[in-house]
Amino acid sequence: MAPREVLLPRLESVLYSGQIGEGDAVVDFEQRFGATIGNPHCLAFNSGTAALHTALILAGVGAGDEVITTAMTAEPTNLAILHAGAHPVWADVDPGNGNLNAGSIAACVSPRTRAILVVHYGGIPAPLGAINALAARYGLPVIEDAAHALGARYAGQAIGTHSDFVMFSFQAIKHMTTVDGGMLACRDPAVLARGRRVRWFGIDRAAPRTAVDVHEVGYKYHMNNVTATIGAIQLEYLPPLLARHIDNGRYFDRAFGAEAGLSPCLWDAAAAPSYWFYTVLADDRDGLARHLSAHGIANSLAHRRNDQHSVFRSSQRDLPGLDNFYAKMLHIPCGWWVDDEARAYITEVIARGW
Ligand SMILES: *Cc1c(COP(=O)(O)O)cnc(C)c1O
Repeated sequence: MAPREVLLPRLESVLYSGQIGEGDAVVDFEQRFGATIGNPHCLAFNSGTAALHTALILAGVGAGDEVITTAMTAEPTNLAILHAGAHPVWADVDPGNGNLNAGSIAACVSPRTRAILVVHYGGIPAPLGAINALAARYGLPVIEDAAHALGARYAGQAIGTHSDFVMFSFQAIKHMTTVDGGMLACRDPAVLARGRRVRWFGIDRAAPRTAVDVHEVGYKYHMNNVTATIGAIQLEYLPPLLARHIDNGRYFDRAFGAEAGLSPCLWDAAAAPSYWFYTVLADDRDGLARHLSAHGIANSLAHRRNDQHSVFRSSQRDLPGLDNFYAKMLHIPCGWWVDDEARAYITEVIARGW
């Protein structure tokens, strides 16, 4: 959270303004966030999942459609596909970083494919050049789940500017939080009016209420003025926090490159990660996890591969790249709270071997 002497007066003023629902503060946060990523076509939501569900609707995904996606992610990525009534089709991941592999996506395209959903796992940008070229070839929209990738860049531009739809999450544990919330950055400004209706009960709030016709299902997905006020302030304090994630990530990249039985993730030359957490790939992953825990160093798998959940049973298929990545991945903290002493201790404990 931003410093209390800055945050609390502005929070108090919005809380007692008589306008705590969706209003000017939300529009202001959308504009500030858009300026930060370099895409002015942003819609704010009460969660990243709500933004993702709306992106799928705006992309034309509906009942019975297929969405090509990854099983190596947090559950909301793929639950949103079920929310839209569609069927997730798992493409395989690159075993070197857990991100979707463009060749595998191409092999999953069918006449029922309606969209491609890409995750930047742990903050490492997926190969957007190849994926967007492939999507253009098949005329498919690309939706990015950038919940881990605020501040990451690809081909010199911020994540949020490359595809038809890019979702960000502001829940408690992301790079930046509004307590809860999400943002959808869109390529085509023509979708924004429908997006605003979908997030507010299908109602066009600009029209007189009794003159409005609800002609498609809408949801209660809007952001409110209170969380938007927090978001606008958080943005002002974001750059040094993001810079520390990235500096810690690069420090670990340098330290672990030479370690036997261990490798950092690899990514394409156009990608510049924002290191939400730091993923190492270890031959003896469980041994490394025990070693780190014994020395008081946080470590985890963070996510269960989604194809192991029974709710996704009908999507089952062989994913050898994911098998390989999932057996080796271990995530350790590299966020703004990891100081010089902590990161030196982590690398020193790892260098001792396990
Ligand atoms: C956090 C997260 C989400 C969901 O975001 P919410 O704001 O919690 O709804 C979606 N996808 C990924 C990969 C996430 O980590």
